[in-house]
Amino acid sequence: MEISCGLNMKHKLKHFWWKCLHTILPVNEVIYSRTKQGDPICKCCGEGVESVEHLLFFCSNAVNIWRHSPILWDGIQEYRTNLWHWWDELIGAANREEGRKHITLTINICWQIWKSRNEVVFNGQGEEGVRRA
Ligand SMILES: [Zn+2]
Repeated sequence: MEISCGLNMKHKLKHFWWKCLHTILPVNEVIYSRTKQGDPICKCCGEGVESVEHLLFFCSNAVNIWRHSPILWDGIQEYRTNLWHWWDELIGAANREEGRKHITLTINICWQIWKSRNEVVFNGQGEEGVRRA
């Protein structure tokens, strides 16, 4: 599937999303399955293996960001356990009014979640910030 789907996205975002879909984004589960080193558990919440789906949808960090986002995609929540499936449904909305804009915004939110996760992991600005928010 062509990822950009006619979306007007910055290269940085496209590349990020491509890595998410191809399980190349270095979340803990991916690193662990490659190297057998480290810990597959999520460092943000400690409540599960950090897969891409966990990172983007189920982590407390992600839940918090989605809660404040202007777009929710309630109708396709059930597909969140499989990013490709979810993406497939999302792309189905591309031809709706402002659909493409909403999809681009959504990927931007996912990017914000990843950046926020990295703050926690690399700068140790986790727990407190998450709890306060
Ligand atoms: Zn987590």
